[in-house]
Amino acid sequence: MPGCIFCKIASGEVGAKVVYQDDNVVAFRDLNPQAPVHVLVVPKKHIEKLSVAEDDLTVLAGIFGAVLKVAKDEKVDKDGFRVVANEGKNGGQSVNHVHFHLLGGRPMNWPPG
Ligand code: 5GP
Ligand code: ZN
Repeated sequence: MPGCIFCKIASGEVGAKVVYQDDNVVAFRDLNPQAPVHVLVVPKKHIEKLSVAEDDLTVLAGIFGAVLKVAKDEKVDKDGFRVVANEGKNGGQSVNHVHFHLLGGRPMNWPPG
């Protein structure tokens, strides 16, 4: 999708600190990390938001596989981590390309803001 920053990162047009990728998924460090480990896991295919992803459940399954792999690689699987998807206006989504935040390396608060 022209103009989409995560499509550009997925294609390599824009640089990012990539920690994992396969045919369908890329995972890279957030530019503005909110925890010692803050990785974004995104589909290479442009999907605007989770609520329109019902035809792409295989891709979403691959994303979760990548989340678990990165959690292990980043050594946050033992102490725990948080996975967040912000959806739409009320969810606080700022980039309109599906992404999951993997946050770890510190205790998380609940409820979120
Ligand atoms: P959202 O608010 O949509 O859930 O999360 C978007 C995330 O993307 C934010 O945490 C923001 O820091 C991150 N982000 C935005 N632009 C870029 C970028 O160009 N590179 C990287 N690595 N992260 C970005
Ligand atoms: Zn995109």
